[in-house]
Amino acid sequence: MGTTLITDVKVVLTAPEGINLVVVKVETDQPGLVGLGCATFAYRHLAVKCLIEEYLRPLLVGRDAHAIEDLWQLMHQNAYWRNGPIENNAISGVDMALWDIKGKLAGMPLYQLFGGKCREGVPIYRHADGRDIAELCDNIQKYREQGITHIRCQSGGYGGGAFGAAPAGAPEGAPKGVYLDSRKYMRETVKMFDEIRGRVGNDVALCHDVHERLKPIDAIRFACELERFDLFFLEDAIALEEGEWIRQLRAKTNTPLAQGELFNHPLEWRTLITERLIDFIRVHLSQVGGITPGRKLQIFAEQFGVRTAWHGPGDMSPLAHAANIHIDLAARNFGVQEWSGTEPPNFVIQELKGPRAALLDVFPGLPEFRNGFVYANDKPGLGVDLNEAEAAKYPCDSSVTTWTQTRLPDGTLQTP
Ligand code: MG
Repeated sequence: MGTTLITDVKVVLTAPEGINLVVVKVETDQPGLVGLGCATFAYRHLAVKCLIEEYLRPLLVGRDAHAIEDLWQLMHQNAYWRNGPIENNAISGVDMALWDIKGKLAGMPLYQLFGGKCREGVPIYRHADGRDIAELCDNIQKYREQGITHIRCQSGGYGGGAFGAAPAGAPEGAPKGVYLDSRKYMRETVKMFDEIRGRVGNDVALCHDVHERLKPIDAIRFACELERFDLFFLEDAIALEEGEWIRQLRAKTNTPLAQGELFNHPLEWRTLITERLIDFIRVHLSQVGGITPGRKLQIFAEQFGVRTAWHGPGDMSPLAHAANIHIDLAARNFGVQEWSGTEPPNFVIQELKGPRAALLDVFPGLPEFRNGFVYANDKPGLGVDLNEAEAAKYPCDSSVTTWTQTRLPDGTLQTP
């Protein structure tokens, strides 16, 4: 097989749902052969775009697109300092695009290149929330009627309100923010699960995301209190910076633990996996550098009985959702897939407003949800296309991010 030279690397920014998405397009010297990848860092999208256009493009043009491993290491090492989130997302965009090209050259969907299917469809979990428990339970029931067996339950998000003025009780002059009351959040969440189990029974697998908003000792007590509700997993109970506490959390509770959507560096997950301190590894694929490191991590975790539950939020593009699904299909140690980015088309068009349908217009070919499972299509590569004319209709927004400005009752910043 001859070479397939990279002739250009382009960035497309689009926000069909109002969330900034960063798409990388790698062009080659083969007629019509291009690859697409996700480099989405929604809250620093311009920095990623600059890095790709000013630093990675000159590094890559003229090189052979076949050599994914070598090109990944080249991009990873080229700036000398490694593993930052902006750098990793930029590398991911190129990496996914190179895998897309590889699949197109092979005439195979990526799951075939990863060893073939371990399962025909990917079981997913959805997010249920509500203004009160009754509404939350109604939403759980709607998902169950769609065949969904795993549901993440929150009551009012992650225990904070909307961004706004400091509440009563904060010190004079306290800035605006998303103010948290951890004690109230823990009390209400225990009550929430008590009522959910009473109303919807035990047949549904329930998850919950702490989103790093507790102090470690509170997280330990909280995980123990939740044991009686038989959670499928408790997510990010401990903040990234407090990772050493996970060993103590593990020793104290039998609630299954999921961790990792903020991880950037292999050293952040290595010990958690080799010491079997978590049950599910949840990295955000573009945040760790794309498919190449994601596949290595999946296979590494398999050796230690840790299952995957890749991050699948709205702030990643359908290209990344597709990458998740292709790895999921071929992973023996697959656990569950978070699914929030794409709806079943009939559900979208009939029940939701314009933006969801817009996502389908911009990214035709995205994996499809049907009756509890998500299916990749059988097109070569990732199987997702980009309609650039449609993408151009939805410009990105560079205004200051507010939802991450989370604060404790006394106004101290708390990780979001
Ligand atoms: Mg999460």
